[in-house]
Amino acid sequence: MLRQNVRELDAVLLTHSHKDHIAGLDDVRAFNFKQERNMPIYASEDTITALKREFYYAFSDVYYPGIPRLEVHAIRAGESFWIKDISVMPVQVMHHKMPVLGFRIADFTYITDAKTVDKENKKLIEGTNTLVVNCLQEDPHLSHFTLEEALDFINQIKPEKAYLTHISHRLGLHKNIQKRLPEGVEVASDGLVINI
Ligand SMILES: [Zn+2]
Ligand SMILES: [Zn+2]
Repeated sequence: MLRQNVRELDAVLLTHSHKDHIAGLDDVRAFNFKQERNMPIYASEDTITALKREFYYAFSDVYYPGIPRLEVHAIRAGESFWIKDISVMPVQVMHHKMPVLGFRIADFTYITDAKTVDKENKKLIEGTNTLVVNCLQEDPHLSHFTLEEALDFINQIKPEKAYLTHISHRLGLHKNIQKRLPEGVEVASDGLVINI
């Protein structure tokens, strides 16, 4: 946030409760102080249950000064919601047996930690022009798309531009992988900015 000079944050969308996706939540404190308001958090009921366990101090009845101040909203796949004037559609993908939310905003879709996506949810992201999708490694994995599966998924959705994210060191060097990708598919990198 400091490096990218992010001065304002309207809301946080959570995909699921795994630590690599929620551990940074305390850092909304800086925005609490600067913006002088609670931070809206959008997540599934399952994720909210986990947040109450992992960040119990943010949900305590006794207010402790300096805790992250959260305003939690429960959301469900297939039921769109608004953040200011932006409509967001949550999409469900499966992370082995765990449901995870992806998000569609206009013709942009962000999906991570997917292994399978059913027909109904693929329908929700039809017409996506910019797709961000997880791609862990080339070797088979129980709960994440491999490179082959990610490229196959991109091929089904047919966006103009796709970015691979949630990449393991086992995928190899950025420049080596990039050379092997079809046109319109890029390895995402830190600091990438996408205008929607
Ligand atoms: Zn995960
Ligand atoms: Zn993950």
